Amino acid sequence: MTIKFLIRFLPEEYQALLVLAQRIVSSFDTKEKAMEFFEVVADSLKDGKIKTTEWERMGSKAGIFTTRQMQYQNRNNQQGLCKTCPKPMSKSGYCAEHYPRHLELNRQRYHRFKSKNLAQELP
Ligand SMILES: [Zn+2]
Repeated sequence: MTIKFLIRFLPEEYQALLVLAQRIVSSFDTKEKAMEFFEVVADSLKDGKIKTTEWERMGSKAGIFTTRQMQYQNRNNQQGLCKTCPKPMSKSGYCAEHYPRHLELNRQRYHRFKSKNLAQELP
């Protein structure tokens, strides 16, 4: 309550930062989750710069990087429903109708990836 009162007297940039920090701190319900987040941060700071994928991982661990699509998919996944429609899940997060489509799209994505000769770089 006192923080909300004090925030009003700060410049706008700092207000946004404080709200963000509050949101990050309130998203950790256990000590382990907080430690996990700080481990991810330390891991991505090892080489001195942060890649976009690392930003994404940090954001998702902190509970701030979520799109509406991700929220919908997560909610459906927790309720045992398909990621793209409200039918019951059959395999790997998709219903019987959307699972073959998911496989086909992944196959196309892989071959597009392979045609750029990037597949050799995989571990
Ligand atoms: Zn579906």
